[in-house]
Amino acid sequence: LAVHLVSFFFSKLQEDPTKKVDRFLHAMRLHDDRLSDISKRFLAEMKKGLSAESTAAAAVKMLPTQVRSTPDGSEKGEFLALDLGGSNFKVLRVKVREDVGIKKGGVEMEEKTYPIPNELQAGKAAELFDHVSESLKDFLHEKNISPSNKHLLAFTFSFPCEHPSLDQGLSVSWGKNYRVRGLQGKDVVQALKEAIGRTGDMDVEVLAMVNDTVATMMTCGFDDQCCEVGLIIGTGTNVCYMEELRHIDLVEGDEGRMCVNTEWGGFGDDGALDDFITEFDRDVDAASLNPGQQTFEKMVSGMYLGELVRLVVLKMAKLGLLFDGRVSDALRTKGNITTADVAAMEENGLKNTKDILTRLHLSPSSDDCIAVQHVSTIVSFRSSNLVAAGLAAILTRIRQNRNLRGVKITVGVDGTLYKTHPQYPKRLHKVVRRLLPDCQVRFALSESGSSKGAALVAAVAQRLTSQRRR
Ligand code: BGC
Ligand code: MG
Repeated sequence: LAVHLVSFFFSKLQEDPTKKVDRFLHAMRLHDDRLSDISKRFLAEMKKGLSAESTAAAAVKMLPTQVRSTPDGSEKGEFLALDLGGSNFKVLRVKVREDVGIKKGGVEMEEKTYPIPNELQAGKAAELFDHVSESLKDFLHEKNISPSNKHLLAFTFSFPCEHPSLDQGLSVSWGKNYRVRGLQGKDVVQALKEAIGRTGDMDVEVLAMVNDTVATMMTCGFDDQCCEVGLIIGTGTNVCYMEELRHIDLVEGDEGRMCVNTEWGGFGDDGALDDFITEFDRDVDAASLNPGQQTFEKMVSGMYLGELVRLVVLKMAKLGLLFDGRVSDALRTKGNITTADVAAMEENGLKNTKDILTRLHLSPSSDDCIAVQHVSTIVSFRSSNLVAAGLAAILTRIRQNRNLRGVKITVGVDGTLYKTHPQYPKRLHKVVRRLLPDCQVRFALSESGSSKGAALVAAVAQRLTSQRRR
C-alpha cells in the first residue's frame, strides 16, 4: 500500500497542470468535426433569416442594409462621421480622395473619442443623442470647422437596425452595455437629427447610417475589390457579407447584391447551440443585461471572455483544483478579470498571470499559474474557433451562391479583441483555412474600419447618385 501511495502522489506531482484543465473544460474544446457541425447549423439559420416565412422568428436576423456596392476607389468627398456602440464613441472628419488607396492616405481622418457616461447607456434615448450631438458640436469647434457650412454626416451605429433606406435605421434592440429607453422600432437617424436640432447652430445632413460590420467591409473594400465580408470581434461580435438580392425576400429586385448584416450574435437564442453551452455560459447570460439574447456573442466577444475565465477559475478553486481550494472575495466579484487580462495572461511567460492572480488576493503556486493561463487559452481558443465556424458558413454560402468550388475572398476585420489578443488572429485564420481548404481567404485588418467606413458608404452613395445624374 505504501508503495502505491507513494507512486500515486508521485504521479500527481508529476502531472502537467494543463491536463486537469483540459479534463475540466472538455466541453469548451471544439474539434474540427464539431466546428463543421456548428457551421452547418449556422448555414441553416442564415436561410431562415433570409426567407419571408421564417424571418420573424429567426434567431439570426439577417438584416438587409441597403448597401448595394462596395467602393470602386473612385469615391471622393469630405464627411463628418459618428461611431457609436463599440468600446469607444468617436467623432471624426473623414476625407476620401479619389484613386488613392487607403494605405497611401486615400482616406484621411481626424478623430476624437468622447466618453459616454454610464447613466446615458441606461437612460433615455433623447439624452444619449443630446450627448452625441453636443460632442459633434464640440468637435467642430475644436477642429475649427465652421458649423454654419453644410456638412454631410455618416453614422456607424453598432446595434441591430432595419433599414427602409440608407438614411433610416429602425432600432431593433440595444445590447452589450447599452440599455436605452424609448427607441424600439423608431428611426435612429431621426432621433439624431432631432438632437442636432436641439443642440442648435449646426447645418448637418445625415446621408447614411450603417452597422459597424458594414463600415469595416467598406473600408477594406476601398483597397481590395475582393472584400465582401466585414467582421467585428470586439466588445460584441457580428458579421456582414454581400448576398444575392434574389435571395433576400425582404427587398424587392433580383439583380445584383446587397450587404446583409447577419447579427450572428443571436445565433443560439432559439436553442440551436444548446449542446455546446456550458454552465459558465449560462451564468454569464444570467448575470448579463440581456438574458436569453446574444448567445453566440456571449461565448465569443470581448465583453464576456474575462468573465468566463473568472467563473471557470472560481469554480476550479472551489473544487480544490486551484490555490489549495482557497477563494478570495476579489475572485468572487463580477468583472474582476477582464478580456485585457485574458490577453495579458496569454503573452509570453507566466509573469502576467501571476500578477493578475496576486492582484485578486490569491497566492498562486507556479502550477496554479500554468493552469490559469491554460484556462485563458481554452476560453479564447473556443472564441476564435466559434468565429471560424461561423465564417466558414458565410464563405460556403457565398461560394454556393456563385456556384463555385472555391472562392477568393477577403474578410475585413476590426474590433478590440482581434486587435489586442496576441494569438487570436493567427488561430482564427488557421482554423478557417483548415475548415475550407478550397477557398482562398485573405484577412485584412480594417484599421479604424468601423469609423471610416460610414463615410465610404456615404461616398459610394454620392458617386452612384452623380453617375445616375450624368
Ligand atoms: C451588435 C451588432 C454589432 C456587434 C459588433 C453586437 O452586439 O448587435 O450590431 O455589429 O455587436 O459591434
Ligand atoms: Mg429579392
